[in-house]
Amino acid sequence: MSDNCIFCKIISGEIPGKFIYQDDYVVAFEDLNPQAPCHVLIVPRKHIRTTLDLTTADNELVGHIYQVAGKIAHDQGFADDGFRVVNNCNEAAGQTVWHIHFHLLAGRDMIWPPG
Ligand code: AMP
Ligand code: ZN
Repeated sequence: MSDNCIFCKIISGEIPGKFIYQDDYVVAFEDLNPQAPCHVLIVPRKHIRTTLDLTTADNELVGHIYQVAGKIAHDQGFADDGFRVVNNCNEAAGQTVWHIHFHLLAGRDMIWPPG
């Protein structure tokens, strides 16, 4: 838990989130400003500021996040058509919340390269 972290506050229940998945390690909730018909944020319960702050102790956690992304995509019926998992690290990549999170986007055709 980090003071003034919006995602820590969603995880603790201090501010609301539309949760679609929770386990001991991660939560997943709907993005407030969805960029696709399915836009879910997969967020570790542990406060980690950016991807650059991950350590080897987090290797299993990151693998788990991808397992959860696949499970949600499958459960919501998007797995076969395809989905995208995005992590933005630091300002130039568009990171705005300083608690790592992985965007799961699905339900429309994606363009490449991303903007
Ligand atoms: P990023 O720009 O990669 O740091 O992504 C942050 C994401 O968090 C954006 O897509 C925002 O729309 C989303 N977001 C910000 N505040 C909230 C909130 N209170 N509940 C759900 N999603 C949020
Ligand atoms: Zn946090």
